[in-house]
Amino acid sequence: MELMRHLALNIPDTSKPRVVIIGAGFGGLNTAMGLSDEKFQVVLFDKHNYHTFQPLLYQVASAGLQADSIAGPLRNLFHKRKDVHFRMLKVQAIDPAANTINTSAGDLKYDYLIISGGAKTNYFGNENVQRFTSALKTIPDALNLRSQLMQLFEWASLNADPNIADHLLNFVLIGAGPTGVEMAGALSELKRHILHKDYPRLDFTKMRIYLLDGLDRVLPPMSAKASARAQRDLEKMGVIIRLNTMVQDYDGETVRIKDGESIKSFCVIWSAGVTGETMPGLPKEWAERGRLLTDSNCRIIGSSNVFAIGDIALMKQEKYPKGHPGMAQPAIQMGKYLAKNLWALHQQQPIKPFNYFDKGSLATIGRGKAVADLPGNIFFGGRIAWYIWLFVHISFLVTFRNKLLVLTNWIWNLFTYDKGNRLIIRPYIRKGDERAKEVFNNNESGS
Ligand SMILES: Cc1cc2nc3c(=O)[nH]c(=O)nc-3n(C[C@H](O)[C@H](O)[C@H](O)COP(=O)(O)OP(=O)(O)OC[C@H]3O[C@@H](n4cnc5c(N)ncnc54)[C@H](O)[C@@H]3O)c2cc1C
Repeated sequence: MELMRHLALNIPDTSKPRVVIIGAGFGGLNTAMGLSDEKFQVVLFDKHNYHTFQPLLYQVASAGLQADSIAGPLRNLFHKRKDVHFRMLKVQAIDPAANTINTSAGDLKYDYLIISGGAKTNYFGNENVQRFTSALKTIPDALNLRSQLMQLFEWASLNADPNIADHLLNFVLIGAGPTGVEMAGALSELKRHILHKDYPRLDFTKMRIYLLDGLDRVLPPMSAKASARAQRDLEKMGVIIRLNTMVQDYDGETVRIKDGESIKSFCVIWSAGVTGETMPGLPKEWAERGRLLTDSNCRIIGSSNVFAIGDIALMKQEKYPKGHPGMAQPAIQMGKYLAKNLWALHQQQPIKPFNYFDKGSLATIGRGKAVADLPGNIFFGGRIAWYIWLFVHISFLVTFRNKLLVLTNWIWNLFTYDKGNRLIIRPYIRKGDERAKEVFNNNESGS
């Protein structure tokens, strides 16, 4: 494209050490915010021009929140910073021997590199699953899923084909971690409170929500009490939970399970695994099972000036022999730790090792229903846990506008039982979904 032929990074030369940060998620953003302009030049790269608050993606997908209420505009966040340079670009490769990163707008030298690229969905090599299931890692994923869900309801209201009538409203969630549990609860609430009003002639007893997992409990990273409570609440809400159930394949209409059983569905959501984002150019020995091995200072083992934080990092410590949990708090705390200590490291002074403070974990199941594991083995379920969940999520959203938008939406939902974002703004047709294409190509987008 002519316009894109002449690109340059346009980063000013500097006499200060240059810190390049890949990824403006919870880790990278906290590092960039905490580093001093007086001491460092900071160059922050992200594929998007906003920070994504991933814990609330499921609410965007299930029409509870608008997408921009969970997206923090990155340029806004650095208005007052003199030497932070944000570039909306994907870092395509890293050359650690030359201390350079490579992008479509050119290469850039760094003194320090902080890799905070997060995690991507792991399909364990199953191409069919990758092609036909929906993921929930980014805002575009959430908007695609929202369109897909709403289109299925519209399709169901138009359908005259008896062969698919029985399973057009089957939804299958694979992976009963927080994403699967929260999404299953949100779908059940849509069914119980809203959809029958939108589609009075549709029979919603035919809408089935399946939650499948290969392990023997839901929310495996949480306590046994939290798992049991979440399972009980979900089942009361009509979610069909199948544990010890390994999915083998999905061809776009049929989910095949290991023991020969199958479930028909046009909407399968895959949240059964993650692995570190791919960072081409790094020596193989720097990674273990897709994550970058670091010492207790977040520095990649084998490097002197490349660091990894958050989901992409694998820091093995006595209490965390398999690394820290893939959650926002470890990424935030590593980001802050590195911002605080990088100057001392630059001056080759000794620093204290990273010490993760576990603030607990939370998952919501629905209105007035959540589970909370707090430090000291304290467990809350139900309404108290839900209030804790609401408070924590509001307080960690990155901008005041985000907080305000989310809060007003939640208050609206609380009093009206409504989820006002059931719009199909950008129709989504799954690759190879010929039947959906037939139905929705009639409603052309963009015109
Ligand atoms: C649906 C969902 C629900 C979740 N719920 C919770 C929850 O309730 N509680 C909790 O604690 N945690 C939750 N998590 C996990 C939590 O969001 C992550 O652990 C956290 O975001 C990790 O932060 P990070 O900085 O490592 O990566 P991320 O926040 O994923 O940020 C990575 C950033 O890097 C960018 N990037 C990647 N590669 C490149 C590249 N090559 N070039 C430029 N930019 C790049 C991406 O665009 C992204 O912005 C959830 C995650 C998901 C997906």
